Formats: sequence, C-alpha cells, structure tokens
Amino acid sequence: MTDFDWNNYSLETQAIRAGYDRTHHDEHSIPIFATSSYVFKSAEEAALRFTGKQPGNIYSRFTNPTVDVFQQRLALMEKGERCLAFSSGMAAIMAVGMGLLKAGDHVVCSRSVFGNTVLLFQNYFSKFGVETDFVELTSLATWEAAIKPNTRFLFLETPSNPLIEIADIKVLAEIAHNHGCLLIVDNVFCTPVLLKPLELGADIVVHSATKYIDGQGRCVGGAVIASDEIIENNIYPYLRTGGATMSPFNAWVFLSGLETLAVRMKAHCDSAFDLAKWLDRQSGVAKVHYPGLNSHAQHELAKTQQSHFGGVVSFELTGGQEHAWRLIDATKMISITANLGDVKSTITHPATTTHSRLSPEVRAEVGIKDSLVRISVGLENVEDIKNDLLNGL
Ligand SMILES: *Cc1c(COP(=O)(O)O)cnc(C)c1O
Repeated sequence: MTDFDWNNYSLETQAIRAGYDRTHHDEHSIPIFATSSYVFKSAEEAALRFTGKQPGNIYSRFTNPTVDVFQQRLALMEKGERCLAFSSGMAAIMAVGMGLLKAGDHVVCSRSVFGNTVLLFQNYFSKFGVETDFVELTSLATWEAAIKPNTRFLFLETPSNPLIEIADIKVLAEIAHNHGCLLIVDNVFCTPVLLKPLELGADIVVHSATKYIDGQGRCVGGAVIASDEIIENNIYPYLRTGGATMSPFNAWVFLSGLETLAVRMKAHCDSAFDLAKWLDRQSGVAKVHYPGLNSHAQHELAKTQQSHFGGVVSFELTGGQEHAWRLIDATKMISITANLGDVKSTITHPATTTHSRLSPEVRAEVGIKDSLVRISVGLENVEDIKNDLLNGL
C-alpha cells in the first residue's frame, strides 16, 4: 500500500493503530520485546548496521520494537516528524538540554515550570556554563526582554502549575524565531488531545508520560518530539550515549494508555469544568483558577488555543492554610498526593508540598497563596468528588 499514510487518520485512530506491523505470529496485541540485543545474519550485516548503512536494531539502549511503536504513535499525535522515548519526563528534558546546549549558552525559562525543571537549569546546567533567566509565563514583553544574543531556546509549560495560566504559543514562537532561538513546550498538562504546540510554531515538545499518557499512575517515562533534523542531530546521539532509555515494558503500558487518552482527556476535562463551576458557587471558596471560567485572565486564549480546558483545577479558600489543610484532611476518597493525570482524583496543597522550596516572598510574588488547593480531577463520578470536598468546605 504505497499511498497509505497514518497522517490521514485522526488522533484517536493513530493512538490505537498506527506504527505497528504484526509479526509472523499474527498477534492482535503488541508484544513486549524483552530483548537487550539483536542478532545479525552475517558479519557483513552487523557491519552495515553499526555504520548505519542498513536500518535495523542493534541494542535496546538505542532502539526497541515496542518502544518504537510508542514513539511513532506519539509523533503522529503531536504532528511532529519524530519522537524519542526516555526513562522519565526529567530524562527527556535533560536530553533536550544536553543535545542542544553548550557552555556559554543562555536559556529563558518560564518561572512557573515543574520544580525539578527549575532545579535542572538552575543547579546542573549552570555547572557547565549555561545561564538561565526565569520569567513570568504570561508577560510576553518580559520574555522578549530576557533574550540575549547567546540565548539558545525558550522553555515553558502551558497551562502552568498550580495556577493554570495559559501561554500564547504562537506569539512566543514568533518571538523566539525572530531572535534565532527555539521554543520548547512541556505538553504534559494538555497532551496532544487538547493542544499541539508544534502546529502553533513550537520547535520541540517534551512529555512526562507518567501523567495523562499512562493515565493510571503505573509507570515513569518521558518523550521528546521534534523535526527529523533536531532528533537526528541533537537528541538521538545523546540518547544513544547518555542511555536514559524507556524500557519495553513501560512503553507497552504507555501504549495502552495512548489507546484511551482521547476519551479519558475528554472525561477529565468535562468533570474538571463542572467541578470548577461548582466550586465557584461555594461560600468557602474565595477564587477558582480554571481557564474555562469567564473570570480566568486567559479564558479567550484558552478557548482558541486548546480543544478543552484541562483536567486540573486550583482554588483558594477563604480561611488561609488552616482552611486548606482542613479541607484536604476532611476528604475520604480523593488521594492526598502531588501526582496528577490519574483516573483517581488527587488533591494537594502546593505551598507546603510541590512549591515549599520557594521562599514565602517568592510564593507571594508568583501568586501561590497559603489558601491554595490543587485538584487533578479523576474519572470517578464528579458528584462523588463534590461530596468528598463538601466534608471540608
Ligand atoms: C511530572 C512532570 C515532569 C517530570 O516528569 P517525570 O516523569 O516525573 O520525570 C515534567 N513536567 C511536568 C509538567 C510534570 O508534571
């Protein structure tokens, strides 16, 4: 079938069927290829593989058939040319830095990114002569002003965690490209179901597959999606050498996660929107942060940039930290954990957990109040989620 192209299929179909050729056993489910190495038919074939003159597997640190199906599917879903899987989301971000940066380079990063991403740039890349400036996600002028002649890329997450602020990817891609920089987007919160940053001009997408892609809180993994050129020249050589490879078993779990990602995301978003509107009416709630609400500062941008508003809601209580902790402790069903993107709803107090490392002054500056609570809305019946929260409201 020479004219067959998975790009002509929709995301839901790609997620279930793309990138896999059945073996001679005619199996219907994708096998886990638990093999570290591969066998060559002759010394000559081994030589051709090692020099890259013949495509094919050599060793599972570089390529593995199960991992490859995951990579092909996620690349199609993100509308990217190529995807590489990693052992964690942080390993994927590390690979982007190691593949693209050299001593003397500069990075502009949103100050509202995952805590370990901040530490990676601030404490580790800095040791090798890469300087990073952190800027406010939604202030476009601040991004542009922070760019220097040696800036290599801009890095952001949208929506931000835990305040669910939305970045304008189209405008930031333009700003980046006008200055000869790349734009890198961490698409963990939206997944390609809600947002395809590459279509909006971003150059690289990174993922933690640990969250919505797995969807059931089982495995840790990550991915980088970009052009063939960036993957081939910058990311693949690092993966091959650095070795933070995704295991075939984890890829197999993530593949089953991808199969249901679209329906799960829709259900997560529907419940989160419902919950956000309900929270907005509760007397103990001072403010709800959710881009579906008219009161959200980037409501219009979220409407045009994303296909839905996302599965995470945060809200401020009227009574400070004591009230927030009382609410969290009064829940009987929702899991008290900082993880997100699970079928199980999770609740967390950012100021004393994920963002406790920040000083009270910095927390105040970025708007993470002591009364703030974040919920990753799961797939339980939303009325049960509301009832569980009512115990503490
Ligand atoms: C969890 C997370 C990461 C890191 O991923 P791991 O798989 O835990 O290494 C990066 N970015 C965001 C937005 C995350 O939520």
